[in-house]
Amino acid sequence: MENMKDTQWDFALVLRQKYQEEIFRRKLRELGVSLEAPVELTKVEVDEAIPQGGYKITAVTKNGVTGEEETIICKYLVGADGGRSFVRRALDVPFDGSTTEDKWVRIDGIIETNMPKSRVYGAIESPTHGNVLWAALDHGATRIVRNCSFVPSFRLPTFTSGFALGSGLLYSKILVANSFSGVCFHSREAKGVPRIQ
Ligand SMILES: Cc1cc2nc3c(=O)[nH]c(=O)nc-3n(C[C@H](O)[C@H](O)[C@H](O)COP(=O)(O)OP(=O)(O)OC[C@H]3O[C@@H](n4cnc5c(N)ncnc54)[C@H](O)[C@@H]3O)c2cc1C
Repeated sequence: MENMKDTQWDFALVLRQKYQEEIFRRKLRELGVSLEAPVELTKVEVDEAIPQGGYKITAVTKNGVTGEEETIICKYLVGADGGRSFVRRALDVPFDGSTTEDKWVRIDGIIETNMPKSRVYGAIESPTHGNVLWAALDHGATRIVRNCSFVPSFRLPTFTSGFALGSGLLYSKILVANSFSGVCFHSREAKGVPRIQ
């Protein structure tokens, strides 16, 4: 990561989704595309009697601001709605795979630290605090992802009070927490999704 010389910027920085989205929205506006948001897909029906390529899908959407519902008849439905996909569940698509037993806590915020080279990607293996993943974020923030086996009863105040690593020489203290969440890793595949020919 430190020796990247073949890109416009020779460093890696995680740009959080909330900032990426605005870039995409702006570009879409420039291209004259109007994005309907917040609009939620609430119902999907597939008429199997209609052959592929025909208008076999009926989708109902609901506007989150006005509450207005709209029915759309279409040929294809692209389910790009994330890991908990409504489309997958509505169409009973199996989602087999596994989940690791490890639980992690992810926190993004402004930190104070004496970590050398703290504005990079890093993974620290600490005998007292488990694995700590580290990534420089936009707006001067840092993401710390920490294995929860070492913090069984996670509470934000205990996490933000800082933690020592290894011999205790390294520390990281969250000054401002932007967001945090519990994280566990799944490896699953949506099977049997009809392919577009
Ligand atoms: C805290 C966190 C940290 C992560 N960090 C990393 C990382 O460092 N590196 C990495 O590679 N991955 C990371 N991931 C995983 C990564 O974010 C996901 O794998 C990726 O966003 C999946 O993209 P997607 O387009 O499939 O779904 P999403 O990004 O989840 O997008 C789905 C979209 O569908 C919309 N939607 C959902 N249901 C409906 C509905 N019924 N109607 C209309 N719209 C709907 C949602 O609002 C959302 O905008 C992280 C995830 C989390 C939660």
